[in-house]
Amino acid sequence: MPGYEPFLLCDFHVHTTWSDGRLSVREVVDLYGQTGRFDVIAITDHILMERDLLGRAGRLMSLGRRHFSVTQERFDDYLADIAAEAARARKLYGMLVVPGAEITQNRLRSRKNAHIIALNIKQWISADQSAREILEEIRRQGAFSIACHPHHRTTRRIEISTCFLWENRKDLVSLVDVWEAANRDDLFSVTSLKHYPYVASSDFHKAKHLYSWKTLLRCEKNWDAIAATMRANVDIALTLYRNGSWAA
Ligand code: ZN
Ligand code: ZN
Repeated sequence: MPGYEPFLLCDFHVHTTWSDGRLSVREVVDLYGQTGRFDVIAITDHILMERDLLGRAGRLMSLGRRHFSVTQERFDDYLADIAAEAARARKLYGMLVVPGAEITQNRLRSRKNAHIIALNIKQWISADQSAREILEEIRRQGAFSIACHPHHRTTRRIEISTCFLWENRKDLVSLVDVWEAANRDDLFSVTSLKHYPYVASSDFHKAKHLYSWKTLLRCEKNWDAIAATMRANVDIALTLYRNGSWAA
């Protein structure tokens, strides 16, 4: 369609084996890259709270083999892995890979939980602080914030609610860069009803999650242009990427 060609296909919410994803950064890069369709992905592994119950139970069940959180000690190695794979992705697939993290709060029965993605993150951010403090730290680093699944997800069997940002949007809206309007198979109409800046993401944990909501952006393929376009939230679209989408 004339005028629509330059859209970039983007996924800003991807987990790897650095936290609870099934694929390594390299495997994720190859999965997305080999479609020949993706322009931008962000690696956004979980940073959990110190006392995260799900993370501790999971680690116990996997006898310590699996990690559920990028820890402060491993953070530099995490960024180095992403940087190395980003160089490979650019060369092999012409794909931009952005370093990020999902600062994740999973307190049982807490109305203060938020999951906040920081894109273009440079330094570790603790999940053991208030949502406001996390958002302020993201701003301080010159990083970019996404309010993840800000409303209830209908497709999850067990859900720990992460509605704090939404319930406190009046106080926090100026600190949030964009809100997820779609996460994997869910659509959050609240985001669009408020006319908040939005993105759509897969919340990728395993290969089949490739087929899910994604963001289309019309801008140049570099981080500054991408961040500016998401903030302005003009020339942006959400699309359901299905098996066979845009087949040649
Ligand atoms: Zn999340
Ligand atoms: Zn996630």
